Amino acid sequence: METTNPPVAPAAGAADGRSALGRALGILADRWVLLILQRAFLLRIRTFAGWRDELGISESVLAVRLKELVAHGIFERTPYRDGRTRSEYRLTGPGLRLWSFLVAIHSWERDWADRPGLLTLVHDSCGADARPYLGCGGCGKPMTARDTRTVRGPLATFDRVGLPRHHRRTVRAGSGREDYIGYCPHSMEILGDRRSTSVLAAAFLGIRRFVDFQQEIGIAPSVLTDRLKRFTELGVLRTDTEGAYRLTDQGLAFFEVLAFLTDWAQRELPGPAGSDLAITHRPCGTPLRPVLVCRFCHGTLARREIHFDLGGPPPAH
Ligand SMILES: [Zn+2]
Ligand SMILES: [Zn+2]
Repeated sequence: METTNPPVAPAAGAADGRSALGRALGILADRWVLLILQRAFLLRIRTFAGWRDELGISESVLAVRLKELVAHGIFERTPYRDGRTRSEYRLTGPGLRLWSFLVAIHSWERDWADRPGLLTLVHDSCGADARPYLGCGGCGKPMTARDTRTVRGPLATFDRVGLPRHHRRTVRAGSGREDYIGYCPHSMEILGDRRSTSVLAAAFLGIRRFVDFQQEIGIAPSVLTDRLKRFTELGVLRTDTEGAYRLTDQGLAFFEVLAFLTDWAQRELPGPAGSDLAITHRPCGTPLRPVLVCRFCHGTLARREIHFDLGGPPPAH
């Protein structure tokens, strides 16, 4: 994992002054947003009442999240008649392309969180439990954080990711079907609020020391202390003998998730050329093009060729 940091101070102006990844975090690094999306993919939920009943989320919180997801072009709202006219929320193209990111979350959680009962992801082509790993779309070989090179453009900062939302810290226990529906508690802690995700993303960019995290992300010392402590407890960071924070193997493996998030952000929310992160697979020199690969047959996993085993027949596509 090599990182080259920006040669110049962040430029103002371009887009809204944030990196593609920063803007993606602003939209997606929210526990409820992730749960809404996960249910849309896994259970094909499309209606307000569907999410409300499934997640036990308050109507006002759900209404705000759906409105934002429509505004960001992830869902489109379409009327349908059910006695009276109601709205349905359908994933758009950009929304559907979040699929790999959500599968990567599940995959990392299953590999590292030691949580029994997470759903099995079946690769329909070979019939096996896919247990996907991250591959490079350029050369087809496995890809890890260690064999990438990252060059930071001037907008690739996190200091404007924004304040966290005010939301309940945990999803109410026993609500919905989180007991078997692939609820991913560790990923949710990392991705469930923007500041947490920014701390981990900064660690991937080579930030090691408390003061450097603080400067990079611009968050209150007490909040930063809390996040670093929690990530250490979760086993994604450790402190070395000099008190610097380093990614553990488990933390490094989270690159799988960040790779898909970054890829999505750069495709769907592109900033000016050269302004953002440029991640390269060093062995082949291909710019970041992450794919999920089946651990059994080594085929690339496409959205329509896999399904989560929910204990019943696979949902219709
Ligand atoms: Zn490659
Ligand atoms: Zn397979």
